[in-house]
Amino acid sequence: MTPLITLKGVNKHYGDYHALRDIDLEIGEGEFFSLLGPSGCGKTTLLRTIAGFESVSNGLVTIGGKDMAGVPANLRPTNMVFQSYAIFPHLSVAENVAFGLRKRSDLDTKAKQTLVEDALDMVGLDGYGKRAAHALSGGQRQRVALARALILKPKVLLLDEPLSALDKKMREQMQVELMRLQRHVGITFILVTHDQEEALVMSDRIAVMFEGRIGQLADAETLYRRPRNQQVADFIGKMNFLDVEVRSSNEPVDLEISGLGRVTISPDQVPEPVTIGKAIVGIRPETLSLLFDGETTDLRLIDGVVDEVVYYGDMTYYDVRVQGVEKPLNIAMKNVIGRPVLDVGAATRVVWDERSLVLLN
Ligand code: ATP
Repeated sequence: MTPLITLKGVNKHYGDYHALRDIDLEIGEGEFFSLLGPSGCGKTTLLRTIAGFESVSNGLVTIGGKDMAGVPANLRPTNMVFQSYAIFPHLSVAENVAFGLRKRSDLDTKAKQTLVEDALDMVGLDGYGKRAAHALSGGQRQRVALARALILKPKVLLLDEPLSALDKKMREQMQVELMRLQRHVGITFILVTHDQEEALVMSDRIAVMFEGRIGQLADAETLYRRPRNQQVADFIGKMNFLDVEVRSSNEPVDLEISGLGRVTISPDQVPEPVTIGKAIVGIRPETLSLLFDGETTDLRLIDGVVDEVVYYGDMTYYDVRVQGVEKPLNIAMKNVIGRPVLDVGAATRVVWDERSLVLLN
């Protein structure tokens, strides 16, 4: 990765409120990078700090090796796409996109027109130039906003919850399109979102933020499979948490899991350093399953009783009470032909595998 944006020791105070705390971060050239976290964790503040809409209280922000202190937003090689599309309803699509070029006095009308057409083509709005902006769907408006931001050929596109106003289907479609667009234009995208699925789908790397700090920075698979701590594990997807006693921190790590018993797990399932004593392990619902009549397994089994059933069509989520485990285990089962959906109160057996456990700090 060639770093394009560097943040070193960045802090932001709003009066007494400490919104960003010692942020150290490098974002690469051509990277799709996401800032993910619950409401109020500071992700928009961090994005605005890179854009130049906020100054930092202390610390260093560089873009392309240049110190950005004192450089106003309009002189930075960044451009921002906002949650509210901020397009002008009384103008045509082409006029909205051309608005991005209003300060380019070096370009004649013909050159501007070509750039507008190219930009519309890029976002899949080829032929929409004359359409009135108010006659567009939410997804199309968002594309206009993207075209307007991209027409200036920024080095970095900053996206603040760009898909949050769209319905679920359109959002999923735009996620894939944004990802393709980013690969096509090859510039750095920095996305702010509170939607973990959105971040997992689109990003090369994700910084998960809590209370002004980065809790973990990793690619999607690492965040999902090897969350560093309970806070990250809880925010990304669903996770069962079980009490555990770490008996030996040497390899392989020896655990006594309340209700499930004694197992050993490999070094890639544990944080560093591992400490002896009480801890928490996480297990994803889809790595557990129920054993139905006529099925067999070589994996571990434990008896349980169905406490709750939530049917999703393709999946059923069960909560299963297991003796010695404090909270019912949440288990995601694919619904396949011939497999019944169990009722609350049914006796069942839970299949589990120590290879899917992750020990958490
Ligand atoms: P959301 O997803 O809700 O937008 P966020 O993670 O983007 O949340 P920020 O907008 O970065 O959060 O805000 C972080 C914290 O800083 C919040 O507690 C917010 O109230 C506070 N904050 C943001 N801007 C200001 C401001 N101009 N003055 C005072 N406090 C602010």
